[in-house]
Amino acid sequence: MQILKTIEELQDIRKNINSNVGFIPTMGALHDGHISLIKKARLENEIVVVSIFVNPTQFLLGEDLNTYPRKDEADKKICELCKVDYLFMPEISTMYSEEEILIKAPNKSYILEGLARPGHFDGVLQVVLKLFGIVQPTNAYFGKKDAQQLSLITQMVKNLFLPINIIPCEIVRENDGLAMSSRNVYLNNEQRSDALLLSKSLYLAASLVAKNEKNTSILTNKISEMMKNLNVEYIAIVDREFNEIETIELDNTIILIVVRFEQTRLLDNIWI
Ligand code: AMP
Repeated sequence: MQILKTIEELQDIRKNINSNVGFIPTMGALHDGHISLIKKARLENEIVVVSIFVNPTQFLLGEDLNTYPRKDEADKKICELCKVDYLFMPEISTMYSEEEILIKAPNKSYILEGLARPGHFDGVLQVVLKLFGIVQPTNAYFGKKDAQQLSLITQMVKNLFLPINIIPCEIVRENDGLAMSSRNVYLNNEQRSDALLLSKSLYLAASLVAKNEKNTSILTNKISEMMKNLNVEYIAIVDREFNEIETIELDNTIILIVVRFEQTRLLDNIWI
């Protein structure tokens, strides 16, 4: 595995690659969720590129940019073990200049995460577009865990006519059901145990749907009953384009939950 810091190094290498390139953009502190994306890319592409970049433009003022977990050495080992070909770890000054062309997420995205973190998706799309420009992947892998992000990146690729396949990847969970996240390390023991209610309530909702409960208000009430002692930011039931729906549509529904534990927001969702 080669570790690259500059755009020129990566571009020089890219010029000489004629086979499929699979790309996994990350912010590091890699866990089994990231690893599952890398493994899928490894199976489906001749060349695998991972980036680790804690992107400042997607953090709002007062968010955890400066305390976001960084584990560069462990991450390098993980990538090496996963047989990544190129690990791109640029500095902020490499990725951004003083004045930038800005990308704006569509107005429609100012709901759920877009509403809770206004401007967040502008930063995500900006950095992903830059990374796509540098890596020029054939296939790019994103987790369903960040469902709204996945949807916006899919839209960006379509709207900007980028010749890249966006590959959605399943959510990877701890054995007890907690969705893996680099931010789980912020939780104390009590919060960690309360956090299990996220996946439990999503599973309950899915089991009710399996028993033919299709009314989204009833399902939302059941979830919020289970979470009544937690600081729930939102529970939403939407179709794959993020329109709120009244009736569950099989194969076209996502149930999303966000709970706040002090400064830490935990996201989880289930695709029905
Ligand atoms: P991040 O490092 O948080 O920016 O995440 C990088 C990529 O990994 C994104 O596409 C995430 O959706 C994905 N990801 C993060 N956690 C998980 C998980 N538990 N399961 C699957 N994918 C994940």
